Amino acid sequence: MSIAVKISGILEKTSWIRKMFEEGAQLKAEHGADKVFDFTLGNPDLEPPVRFKDVLADMAGVSGPYLHGYMANTGYPAVRQAVAEFVSDEQGVAVTSDDIIMTCGAAGALNVVFKAILDPGDEVITPAPYFVEYGFYVDNHGGVLKAVATNPDFTLDVENIKAAVTSKTKALLINSPNNPTGQVYSKETLGQLADLLKTEGHRLNRTIYLVSDEPYRKITFDGIKVPSIFSCYPDSVIATSYSKNLSIAGERIGFLAVNPQSTYRKDLLAATALANRILGYVNAPALMQRTIQTLQGLSVDVSIYQKRRDLLCHGLSECGYEFVRPKGAFYLFPESPLADDVAFVGALQEELILTVPGSGFGAPGHFRIAFCVDEDTIKRAFAGFERVRKRF
Ligand code: PLP
Repeated sequence: MSIAVKISGILEKTSWIRKMFEEGAQLKAEHGADKVFDFTLGNPDLEPPVRFKDVLADMAGVSGPYLHGYMANTGYPAVRQAVAEFVSDEQGVAVTSDDIIMTCGAAGALNVVFKAILDPGDEVITPAPYFVEYGFYVDNHGGVLKAVATNPDFTLDVENIKAAVTSKTKALLINSPNNPTGQVYSKETLGQLADLLKTEGHRLNRTIYLVSDEPYRKITFDGIKVPSIFSCYPDSVIATSYSKNLSIAGERIGFLAVNPQSTYRKDLLAATALANRILGYVNAPALMQRTIQTLQGLSVDVSIYQKRRDLLCHGLSECGYEFVRPKGAFYLFPESPLADDVAFVGALQEELILTVPGSGFGAPGHFRIAFCVDEDTIKRAFAGFERVRKRF
């Protein structure tokens, strides 16, 4: 097997994910998919909004020169203009189409930004628990991910972040609403972060970027709004997508927005456009760009996720589980009743309940439940959750 030592090491380290997936498939084959409660994947189950399908059908019927051809690496100007107008409104900062790069999802946007800013050995700080792919995305571009603990309720511990800053720190990567905790960071916290990054950047005589990964921005509960990133810190970029709010994760469409006030705006824009090309994305999918152009601000019915959150929180607390109530996204991150979260997830699996151990997110002692599944599945799973809780 002549593959790279590095990727072979990653395969080894992440083999438990594959194992879980294979075991889940095996359980479904043995017992029938409807008997297995699969809470593992953050793959939105809601149908995309009808308007998305209508516009997609219309766009597919349009003919014209190069409609399916190459384009500028940053994307269609008209699409970027529509996105810029929406982001300006949302962020309260005037963003132009020049500041937008259409990408292959938020994952594509993150890889583009890290390719653009990281030199070998540069460090990216992120609060734990965190989306497991971050480590790989940073490493793809020679960087090193440094995870720092959050407070017990998963809000940011700004002092911990400060302690992690070194002369190699290039960026702070945050994700709010958060996968896997559902936490949303407040305006006050973001203000403290901004002060910290400014002070430390000044002290170290280098720009520390704030990278905000926010594919769940539109999925918040109880009227909570995600605060503006651009108005709180100039050297910031937003990586996001339509994967979650439009339920189109497989279509790979998102964007990167560069704060127009950033110190190295021009360089950053040139570098990210080049990165999109040379990483092999070339440009974001043409048909999807044209489709989302007129769908800015559209979302699936978020109240469905909120109802599931309420149902799950109520049912699990009745069974004796402890957790922080999610404010957004579609994940719950309860404490594992067993210190060994992998063993606990194994015990749930015996009840045909599939979840993910917190260790996979840099937070052992917890487990993640993705509630992008129907209410009936959640309700039917409670008996198994209760039996396992009673065992420990
Ligand atoms: N960031 C976070 C926190 C995620 O949870 C995900 C996907 O689950 C992504 C990024 C990648 O999203 P996309 O499908 O838009 O690439």
